[in-house]
Amino acid sequence: MPKAAKPPLTPEAVYAALLARYGRPRWWPARGPYEVIVGAVLTQNTAWGNVEKAIANFGDGLSPETVGAMPTEELAEVIRPAGFFNQKAGYLKAVTAWYARYGFDAAAARREPLTRLRGELLAVRGIGPETADSILLYAFGFPVFVADAYTARLCARLPINVGKGGYGDVKRAFERALPQSARVYNELHALIVINGKAHCRKRPLCEGCPLVGACEKRGAA
Ligand code: SF4
Repeated sequence: MPKAAKPPLTPEAVYAALLARYGRPRWWPARGPYEVIVGAVLTQNTAWGNVEKAIANFGDGLSPETVGAMPTEELAEVIRPAGFFNQKAGYLKAVTAWYARYGFDAAAARREPLTRLRGELLAVRGIGPETADSILLYAFGFPVFVADAYTARLCARLPINVGKGGYGDVKRAFERALPQSARVYNELHALIVINGKAHCRKRPLCEGCPLVGACEKRGAA
């Protein structure tokens, strides 16, 4: 007899299971909104450890004023550990120029309507949906869910309804199901990353995964 399909999970059930296992995480490791913006750009296609090395190269000199005034070639050398450093130096210059519209003031950016701010960020060179949403959530505290690669992989393995599973589909499914809360989205994103590193890796380590009882792809992905 074919195996019966597992009943679908909801985003709330995923959140509850991860929270029960890992507790409340504290995330994003940064010293202020501008450092979040820089980290969100630098983390594209690289591990967070490399981002930390690049940020450490600024010493105490990481500020939008410094980055704005620095020649692009010099900036590229500073951020070299993050990889794709020439490209990312251009992206940092572009997003810093965008932030200058708000006087480098997170509170001023926060006063803008979310949809307008997201549209502005998506128009900046090098800022895609995941980077824009990371900035909106972690730098400015908007209730925006970051549907990153860990989330996409998890949703591809669980019986969970996220439409076609594209970035916008996953983001909408989680935002519709969960309270519009930056704290909730912050926590859930962090929990999914923690579980994605501990268990739901490219080659999953399903034993001990808090979602193993509900998962359709356990051990088989
Ligand atoms: S049981 Fe395995 S495949 Fe399923 S969510 Fe957990 S680690 Fe991923």
